[in-house]
Amino acid sequence: NYEKQLEIKQNRVISCLERIAGFDLSYVEVAPIIGMEDPYYYRNKVQLPVGKNKEGKIVMGFYAKRTHSIINMETCYIQSDINNDIFKIVGEFLQRNNISIYNEKTHKGLVRHIITRVAFTTGEVMVCLVINGKKLGKQEELIKELTKISGMTSICINYNLENTNVIMGEKVKTIWGRDYITDYIGDIKYQISPTSFYQVNPIQTKVIYEKALEFADLTGKETVWDLYCGIGTISLFMAGKAKQVYGVEIVEDAILDARRNAKLNNIDNAEFFIGAAEEILPGKYKEDSIHADVIVVDPPRKGCDESLLDTIVEIKPEKVVYVSCDPATLARDLKYLAGKGYELKKVQAIDQFPHTVHIETIALLQREIL
Ligand code: SAH
Repeated sequence: NYEKQLEIKQNRVISCLERIAGFDLSYVEVAPIIGMEDPYYYRNKVQLPVGKNKEGKIVMGFYAKRTHSIINMETCYIQSDINNDIFKIVGEFLQRNNISIYNEKTHKGLVRHIITRVAFTTGEVMVCLVINGKKLGKQEELIKELTKISGMTSICINYNLENTNVIMGEKVKTIWGRDYITDYIGDIKYQISPTSFYQVNPIQTKVIYEKALEFADLTGKETVWDLYCGIGTISLFMAGKAKQVYGVEIVEDAILDARRNAKLNNIDNAEFFIGAAEEILPGKYKEDSIHADVIVVDPPRKGCDESLLDTIVEIKPEKVVYVSCDPATLARDLKYLAGKGYELKKVQAIDQFPHTVHIETIALLQREIL
């Protein structure tokens, strides 16, 4: 029951803040969780391993828990429905032409994974097949079938010849259409290539970014640092309302995408740095005595490094907007900042992943005037 899921998630956020961090929430604005109006078919991306079952039939799906045996999946109720149609076409194509399927144990066979992406705002669709080889036989037949799907924009092959669990190799070739699909979050445009990171629930992502923007309460004069910025989505979202935005991210390719996306949107007040936030930020603070009015952090599940929180405290931004995918580490980090002169003002949970255990939360901290 979706209502019950939302209730469980909201209670988990509250219990982490009260029990791990010891906050008295009667002084904090804790808004009710924002769920999805339609919590189905919300994912824009899926990557499925391809295999064969004992009867020699092609299967595509997810691995059974703690195994590498694929459970065939015909319909996924949280995936864009177009993806379900694509799997069917690809599965039938592979079966009909008896195309060899990759076997993890022997490292032999061709087709490893199928990856599909749908841009919800433009309707553009991308399909990428990951193969252990140089060529996909009967490629033209597959293209003919796939281009019947409305919105088909890009069909690619990714070459992964390594004996590894990593899904994609480095080389990609477009065999039909464009190298990328285009999507929008709010007014910001993104070109998404098969290897780019992109949020998987674009509808709720927009809700999160709008909330982050509301919490930051920008007037156009502020300097904003967006730490753990990924492809710069939050930075670009805020750039229009700020004087200057700086993004920091550890994955180089993501920063290359961020810079490209800034250009694509004619944003010239966003600058991006490659490196660990806990190294870049103290470095910039010591060398260039940088200033920040607002610092946004969106760390992975393990949360922020304590040394990063110390640097944030030294820089003294007026506001810290914390976007979190784990309420437990959020609570730990908020407690630390609350002990160093920041007051927890607002908390908003957002259901980014209905029917899963994941919880996204945004918190606003304000510097106390001492
Ligand atoms: N804000 C982005 C991405 C958030 S996901 C968005 O909304 O799309 C967290 C990001 O933190 C990932 O891109 C990951 O590569 C990056 N990351 C992980 N550890 C990091 C570190 N120590 N310093 C900087 N970035 C880091």
